[in-house]
Amino acid sequence: MPTLLEKNAMAKRVDELKKLDVMDCMECGCCAFNCPAGRPLVQAIRFGKSLVRAEGKK
Ligand code: SF4
Repeated sequence: MPTLLEKNAMAKRVDELKKLDVMDCMECGCCAFNCPAGRPLVQAIRFGKSLVRAEGKK
C-alpha cells in the first residue's frame, strides 16, 4: 500500500489519503528500502501527511 499512498500524495488527494490512514505511517522507511525501483516512497508519504495536516488547519 505505500505505492498507493505515494500515488494519492502526488495527486494531492487528501480525502483518499485520510481513507488510507496515511497518518499511521511511522516513516520507518522499510517500503523505500525494499523498493526495487528505488521510488522515494517515504518522501511522498511525508508530503501526503503534510497535506492532511494543512487541511486540518483550515
Ligand atoms: S515508511 Fe514504513 S510505515 Fe510508512 S508505509 Fe513505508 S513501510 Fe509502512
